[in-house]
Amino acid sequence: MSKDNQSNEYIVTARKWRPLIFADVIGQEHITTTLKNAIRLKRTHHAYLFSGPRGIGKTTTARILARALNCPNLKDTEPCNECESCVSILEGRSMDVIEIDGASNNSVDDVKKIREYIKFTPVTGNYKIYIIDEVHMLSTSAFNALLKTLEEPPPHIIFIFATTESHKVPATILSRCQRHNFRRIELDKITQQLSYIAGKESIIIDEESLVTIARKADGSMRDAQSVFDQVVAYCGNDVDINLVSDALHLIDIEFYFRISKSIKDKNIKEMFEIANEVVTKGYDLQECLSGLLEHFRNMLVTKISENTGIIERSSATIERYLEEASNFTKADMLRILNLIASAEQALRYSPQPRIRFEMALIQLASIDSTVEISTLLDFISKKKNDDSSYLPKEKSSFPVYDLPAQKEEKKTINEPLKDKYPVSVTDDKEKKASSYAGINSKVLNAVDIETGWADFVSRHATHDSEFILLNQPDIISPNFFNGEIVFRSTEKFIEEMYSKKKT
Ligand SMILES: [Zn+2]
Repeated sequence: MSKDNQSNEYIVTARKWRPLIFADVIGQEHITTTLKNAIRLKRTHHAYLFSGPRGIGKTTTARILARALNCPNLKDTEPCNECESCVSILEGRSMDVIEIDGASNNSVDDVKKIREYIKFTPVTGNYKIYIIDEVHMLSTSAFNALLKTLEEPPPHIIFIFATTESHKVPATILSRCQRHNFRRIELDKITQQLSYIAGKESIIIDEESLVTIARKADGSMRDAQSVFDQVVAYCGNDVDINLVSDALHLIDIEFYFRISKSIKDKNIKEMFEIANEVVTKGYDLQECLSGLLEHFRNMLVTKISENTGIIERSSATIERYLEEASNFTKADMLRILNLIASAEQALRYSPQPRIRFEMALIQLASIDSTVEISTLLDFISKKKNDDSSYLPKEKSSFPVYDLPAQKEEKKTINEPLKDKYPVSVTDDKEKKASSYAGINSKVLNAVDIETGWADFVSRHATHDSEFILLNQPDIISPNFFNGEIVFRSTEKFIEEMYSKKKT
């Protein structure tokens, strides 16, 4: 791929595998296609602005474009990389392609120098090309000086600006450039490239490790390649996922699976042990909660969406998410996610983060299962026809309330809600029979709940009933008030959830 490959000297992966032609630039086809067409049609602009995050190919593409514009032996719009012009640019000794670091040459004098030089025609090629990296670092006066040149550039001059922060570039400059926004590179494209490089370098590496490295790079190919080098330096030529986690000091994914298992098993003892391990190994608690949030988010995705492509994990791990998710209902997962998010927020300001972290894990292991309204309605309807025991529709690891056998008698009524929300209410023991009968005759589906509401109120609102919402410890004892049930909640999200359902 590169001339550097022939050398025995160690060269970092990002440099060694830097693309030399447009076709090798990964994940930016929308830009390379436009540039190739411009070359083919000889419609090159006099100023380009390449913007986007770091390490995704902006400078690389600028250099390829520079070589292509000056190459006399173009191979279907790609530079040949063999002619004198290409080689001199590759070796950084070309008089026609000048690379300037905007961060260190940001004064008006630096721009004035450029303006002096552009008067001269190119030495060998067709164009004199200025590549200014980190152009947003130029001072205001430097931009103003540059503007004059951009307004009326000599025909042999081409500017290629690269920036990670295009919003800092003045609008007057932006409007004179052809803008190209480079994208963050997709995870699977990065893993494919790393896998290709590993193959060429005879490095044995599994998919899980590749995905872990790519995730760490967060869309940047250069970062991915640097992390790859770091991992290979630590593990040698046989890369193992456990070593990768160690090398990068990542929180092992097993931690999260252990936590979700402990939530399922309500194992508080294990939660203390996990918290202790996290602290002992020196992991960042905030990062751990963010990871846990993502863990449950991924599980939720596998449960409700067929598009597992939005999960940035290996296929084996996605399978595990799917399996793990079968232990929780959607409602459970939403509540867990909410709890973790609140804990994450609270941890930020906690003077004793460790205790707050432990509290969060213990809270998670202590929550009860939510029973969805549809399941309850099914139960009631079944109860009417058949006195067999209650079977939930969705498999849940949590103890499912066997409603009629419960110590406090529990019956299910519903807010006048249209569909699934976990609401159930206790009533006085002696009213059990009539209550069930009342519900059965009136509340068999969501529509009946609404139409039967007034009747329900007339029957029960006078009974001075005390209501407790099952599995909703965050809702404080609802009461009847003027024919309506009034809920009070300590949690804002619950309040929002119910008020949304009413509308
Ligand atoms: Zn060439």
